[in-house]
Amino acid sequence: MEAKLVDAGPDGANEAELLSTAGKRLLGNYRPQKRVMDRGTGCELFDTEGRRYLDFCAGVAVCALGHAHPELSAAIGEQASRLMQVSNYYYNRQNIELAREICEATGYDRAFFCNSGTEAVEAMLKLTRRYHHEKGAPRSRIIAFQKAFHGRTMGALALTGNAKYMEGFEPHVQGIEHLPYGDLDAVREAMGPDVAGIFVEPIQGEGGVNPPPQGFIEGLREIADEHGSLLLVDEVQSGVGRTGTFLAIERTEVRGDATALAKGLGGGFPVGSLVMSEKVASALPPGAHGSTFGGNPLASIAARVVIKNVRQPEFLERVRKMGDHLGKRLGEIAEKHPKLCRGERGWGLLRAIVLTDAIPPRDMITPMLERGVLVTAAGADGLRFSPPLVVTEAVIDEAAEAVDEGLSALEASL
Ligand SMILES: *Cc1c(COP(=O)(O)O)cnc(C)c1O
Repeated sequence: MEAKLVDAGPDGANEAELLSTAGKRLLGNYRPQKRVMDRGTGCELFDTEGRRYLDFCAGVAVCALGHAHPELSAAIGEQASRLMQVSNYYYNRQNIELAREICEATGYDRAFFCNSGTEAVEAMLKLTRRYHHEKGAPRSRIIAFQKAFHGRTMGALALTGNAKYMEGFEPHVQGIEHLPYGDLDAVREAMGPDVAGIFVEPIQGEGGVNPPPQGFIEGLREIADEHGSLLLVDEVQSGVGRTGTFLAIERTEVRGDATALAKGLGGGFPVGSLVMSEKVASALPPGAHGSTFGGNPLASIAARVVIKNVRQPEFLERVRKMGDHLGKRLGEIAEKHPKLCRGERGWGLLRAIVLTDAIPPRDMITPMLERGVLVTAAGADGLRFSPPLVVTEAVIDEAAEAVDEGLSALEASL
């Protein structure tokens, strides 16, 4: 028996009516495209008017297994009928199994669960200061990097450090300094015995899809160790297979003291996690931190299905192969349009075409949407491609052709 969805189907409001209501009733803190998405399957999305899109946004690097993945949808449906929420006053089976699996997948010892990336980062920030407090030698200074994105709550916002996002929210959380991403000398200079930790993305996502220079992450680990500071890795965007390894940091030998995960972790279901080494785990004893919804069985089953799929050896092999193909196609496109593009960068299925000053990335989103490809802007010059990790060569090629045509049309209009 099919359950009736609330106000959907032929009797539901049409696009114009929905957009009109959205304009009146939704907070205007976003600037969405004037399309109302209705359903998806794999790498395709369909709006309320039945228009089809190739989804290279994927909920901003979230829908790892694509839309309406049969195993993921069924598991969430079954768990929803069984048990959704119990609180952290009790254990639940799915969360315990997930904790074991996420530790196996990441090489960490313990996991905390929350509901978003910013919450995972916030927990990581609290863990960092509290770690030194528990050791009896409090430290408050934190080093982060320019063009970083760590989220929007007051702590995560201070770590993000972007003036545009911070304006009007003063006073900000104190003690956080931003250094140029990739500049180890700057880090050495800023370092001292009062630095609690260094927060870094192993590849910057929102900042423009910026891979670090060779040796940067290794250098940070060394410097942190020299000063008894922690290395805190934000893999909210780069983790869970996005760059072709389960964690992006696996490209190095380096391990962080803790890592924040979210975006891809639930495959579209909201779930975040902070995974950490035993060394730092005792910094958050009972009462020190928590979440009402965190670790609920519904979110946990979603993450379990995603982890199970991503950890199959052929899966990451395919992500790397598709990532290479996407990178190659974007590189070719960039070369064909030198007025608009400077090149391509990224790892795995986290990629960007680098644009020239001729056009800001945000102005490219609508022209691409009109050609049926959903992309996002990242940083000052990145047009980001972050498809579901199950993307195929055929889908990449179809999108690449549309992007190529879109750029040709834009170039002609310049
Ligand atoms: C998206 C993102 C966040 C914030 O995640 P939310 O789920 O939006 O709160 C934090 N860090 C990085 C690296 C991100 O890409």
